[in-house]
Amino acid sequence: MRYLLPEKGKFYKANLHCHSTLSDGSLTPEELKKAYKENGYDILAITDHEYLVDHTDMTEPDFLMLNGYELYVKDMSEPELSRFYRTTHLNAIAKTPDVKKQIMVDPRYTKYAVRYGKIEDLPRVGEMCTRTYTPGCVNRMIKEANENGFLVFYNHPCWSREELSVITQYTGFMGMEIYNHGCFATEGYGTDDGQTYDTLLRMGRRLAVFANDDNHNKYPFGDPLCDSFGGFNMIKAEELTYEAVIAAIEKGDFYCSTGPTIEKLYMDGNVLHIECSPARDIFLRTEPRNNAKGRSPHVGTKPGEVVTHAQFEIRPEDGYVRLEVVDHAGKKAFTRAYFMDELGM
Ligand SMILES: [Zn+2]
Ligand SMILES: [Zn+2]
Repeated sequence: MRYLLPEKGKFYKANLHCHSTLSDGSLTPEELKKAYKENGYDILAITDHEYLVDHTDMTEPDFLMLNGYELYVKDMSEPELSRFYRTTHLNAIAKTPDVKKQIMVDPRYTKYAVRYGKIEDLPRVGEMCTRTYTPGCVNRMIKEANENGFLVFYNHPCWSREELSVITQYTGFMGMEIYNHGCFATEGYGTDDGQTYDTLLRMGRRLAVFANDDNHNKYPFGDPLCDSFGGFNMIKAEELTYEAVIAAIEKGDFYCSTGPTIEKLYMDGNVLHIECSPARDIFLRTEPRNNAKGRSPHVGTKPGEVVTHAQFEIRPEDGYVRLEVVDHAGKKAFTRAYFMDELGM
């Protein structure tokens, strides 16, 4: 038996993308922590725009705060239209709490941080610079973030308006948001970015997937437009400590969801098994089309039925496999992709 989500440890529920009053969010860091704790979360990363702040003093034995911030660069070729045009947003999560310096600080992007002090005093790596909306600059941002103690993932492809032909030029990030609840709840974007993910996977990129709220809380809790508590990551770690949780994220020991939960994911010989909360459908995604020779990549249900387990025969030509679980409300859970060598094939 080969466990793809570790057999040992515990699942911890995390929102890894969130904005507070330190940038353009409506709730203070304390209010965010309280709300997420009360709603069953174990982990929160407050990732304000271009402003890295240490929130670990709010960590408790049963609630972990991770530090991070959201970097961006946008196409300013037509300045009056730039807010509608292409942009790249990256989440940088500090791998240890002592990572305090921002990378590639460009004064044009630090409008929130300057409320709290002079731009010259913002802890930073190297000199200030001028970012440009080019793959070269985006890749340098990712590289410098990686080299200076951050985990980097690519945010909300749908909202960013970036073409696949551009996204595929970006390198070095360890994952992407397959779901962003703020974009869904308040801006009407789709329920997943699976096509972007599969495109990158087919290029051989080994990436994790995240589902985050990206909440700004312009609407109260309970409002249909509320952007909290919609997308989450279930991280399986040995314990609820900064070190153990970061290690689990780096290893890809998590799945993400907008509702369904995944209990177990493992290979038994060449058969992939998944156990999950009551669902309507379970889908297998692979690199090539995969329904040939009698195999169905879909376990579905008739009206009134549920499915809580599925198994799929895996073949070496599958390239990679990933699973999606869909419940009766249309909410989805996503595993990351596992390539054949990880499956022992
Ligand atoms: Zn963003
Ligand atoms: Zn954001």
